[in-house]
Amino acid sequence: MGLEASLPVDGVLTTNLNRVVNWARRSSIWPMPFATACCGIELMATACSRFDLARFGAEVMRFSPRQADLLIMAGRVSVKTLPVLQRVYAQMAEPKWVISMGACASTGGVFDTYAVVQGIDQYLPVDVYVPGCPPRPEMLIEGIMTIQRIIDEDNIPRDPSGLRRPLNIALSPNYQPRDQPLPVTIGVT
Ligand code: SF4
Repeated sequence: MGLEASLPVDGVLTTNLNRVVNWARRSSIWPMPFATACCGIELMATACSRFDLARFGAEVMRFSPRQADLLIMAGRVSVKTLPVLQRVYAQMAEPKWVISMGACASTGGVFDTYAVVQGIDQYLPVDVYVPGCPPRPEMLIEGIMTIQRIIDEDNIPRDPSGLRRPLNIALSPNYQPRDQPLPVTIGVT
C-alpha cells in the first residue's frame, strides 16, 4: 500500500528498539577507573556528593573489567603498567569506551621520560580526551556526557570492515583561570 516506502529502512519496531537500547546504555554507563596518580583524586571527587556522578547514571564504578564499559584512564602510565592496562581494556564488554583523563594520560604530561608512556592513544583507542592537570570533576563529567550523546545518537563510528573506530574527541577547557587574589612577591621582605 506504499506504506513500506515511507518507513525507515530498519522498520518502526527495530528503530524504536534501538532507541530504547541506546537510552539504557547511556543511562547506565559502568566505568572502570584506572587511576595511577593525582588525576585519580579528581575522579574520586567526581563520584562524591558535591559533583555526584550518579546524576548522570555513571557512578557504578566496577573493578572487574568484564562488568565495565567505560575505561577512565586517570594519571600517567608507565611502560611496565601498559600491558596491564591493555589486558583490562581487552577484557571489557562491548560496546566499550575510553576516556583519557588529564595531560599525563594523553601526552605523558611533564614526565617526558623513557619510563612513561607519552600518550595512551598510541596503544588504546581513545574516544574522549579530557584536558587539565588535573581536570576538574566538571570537565570529566563533560567527557562522560560527550560519550552519552554519541551513544544516544547511535553514532558509533565503524570502519568499512565493521570494526569500531575511536571517537578522538578532544574537549576544550571550559573555564577562565582567575587572577591571583594577591600580588605574589617572592624573596621580598
Ligand atoms: S595530569 Fe597532572 S594531576 Fe593528572 S596525573 Fe598528571 S600530574 Fe597528576
